[in-house]
Amino acid sequence: MKYNKKNLILITIDTLRLDHLNIMNYKKNTTPFLSNLSKEGIFFRNVITNGPWTAPSFSSIFTSTYPFHRGGYAPLPENKITLAEILQANGYFNMAIHSTPLLSRFYGYDRGFNLFYDSMLKKENNIIKNYVLNKVLNKKALTVNIIDYLQGLNIPKTLQYYFLITFYNLLIGKLDYYKKARYLFQKAIKWIDYYINKYHDKKPFFLWVHLMDPHDPYFPSTEIINLIGCKNLTIKEIKYIQKHPHYINKLREQNMVNKLIDLYDSEIRYVDDNIKEFFGVLKKEYNYLLENSLVFITADHGDEFNERGSFGHNAKLYDELLRVPLILSSDYLKEKKGLKNKEIYSLINMRDFAPTILDLLNITPNPSFEGKSFADLIYDGDKEIQNDPINDGVFSETYHKKFFIKFTNKNDREVRRIISYRTIKWKYIINEQNHHEELYDLENDPRELNNIVSSYPKLARIFKSKIINHLKENSTIKKEKNDLIEKMKISLAIKKLDLFNKPLIF
Ligand SMILES: [Zn+2]
Repeated sequence: MKYNKKNLILITIDTLRLDHLNIMNYKKNTTPFLSNLSKEGIFFRNVITNGPWTAPSFSSIFTSTYPFHRGGYAPLPENKITLAEILQANGYFNMAIHSTPLLSRFYGYDRGFNLFYDSMLKKENNIIKNYVLNKVLNKKALTVNIIDYLQGLNIPKTLQYYFLITFYNLLIGKLDYYKKARYLFQKAIKWIDYYINKYHDKKPFFLWVHLMDPHDPYFPSTEIINLIGCKNLTIKEIKYIQKHPHYINKLREQNMVNKLIDLYDSEIRYVDDNIKEFFGVLKKEYNYLLENSLVFITADHGDEFNERGSFGHNAKLYDELLRVPLILSSDYLKEKKGLKNKEIYSLINMRDFAPTILDLLNITPNPSFEGKSFADLIYDGDKEIQNDPINDGVFSETYHKKFFIKFTNKNDREVRRIISYRTIKWKYIINEQNHHEELYDLENDPRELNNIVSSYPKLARIFKSKIINHLKENSTIKKEKNDLIEKMKISLAIKKLDLFNKPLIF
């Protein structure tokens, strides 16, 4: 091995809410493997995402900026440099594997990857189709326009979603709703083999695998449903759902919450089993790589099961959507630094995640990143929570429900934003459209049921002014910062020339 950098493996799980993990005392046996991993490694209990659904949340995870900042998030603007770009410029061989339109190359998520699979275009697609998609149509614009168009039709959300998926199916060759974890991990193993054959003695690697299984529609197997003791579904229903995944919409209409949760939990267990299997293969066949890697497991947001009158995840900023797990597992940190069996209680902002990774990998901080590393917490622990209940807070951002599908960054006049500011004790939420304010005391009301904004007008004012300042800061970008980002972009482009001619897209 000619390099001395650590490898990075990042597994992200869509729609995994924190309180459905066994380590959080969840009763059904959803995550036995992740529990072990959390206990042996480092588990972060208070992690807040910066957005309640995939696009805004991932833009923070990978670019260390707030979602509305510097030109939005769908697609990722050029001035938001990604973690993958930085790692690539530092000599990493980068691989991404997932099947999520929102994280596809349409939205700029292929930037910085040497191998990129998003299930959107298949190699076997015919040349004409590829040509049309790649050359004639501007794909990013096309996707955004389709979404605009669907929204303009004023049809129910489910139907919009259906048409969007149909669009992908017909035009882009995406035949499934998403690829299952087993398929994606098998691909990951193949790519690790490819990396070993070509680059192992030359470069460290970054592997990102994103799993969609806990996202609806659900396709659970009967075995898993039985395994975790789900009692709300009959065998007949399970069989029916396996053939007709949209039956869940009926369950939603009839408010069959427990049945839906059984399905959701089964998918979580499926993911847990597959991560276990993936780790098993890594340990058995590639332990020399694993020993030299940092492994992070996290989620982009949670999900709502009618806690507040709806299902899914869109324009709400309550903890069932914003609190996600974060697990760090690293044999290297365990053996060499004694970092194991730790729980971190401090509030973690996902915007700080990418700077932390660079810090742990001993890579110079990226000036485009706005978050700050929490590596000290990993090395030193937090013993007791040090967060200031007023001033140490995380902003999360989303659009108003009516506009949830409108995630382009071009039309500010149509933006109706909801912003929250969350500290270890308080959550303040304001709706930009109707100025509706909410304040929750999370210590005494963790489910955010009692809006106490009228009892604490002074506190509400403090939090409101924080949000106003936050939005102001985000609307402009200082010239010095811009210059730094420009320089960074040029140096990235130069370094990229040395590395590879073209990213390989699968
Ligand atoms: Zn998501």
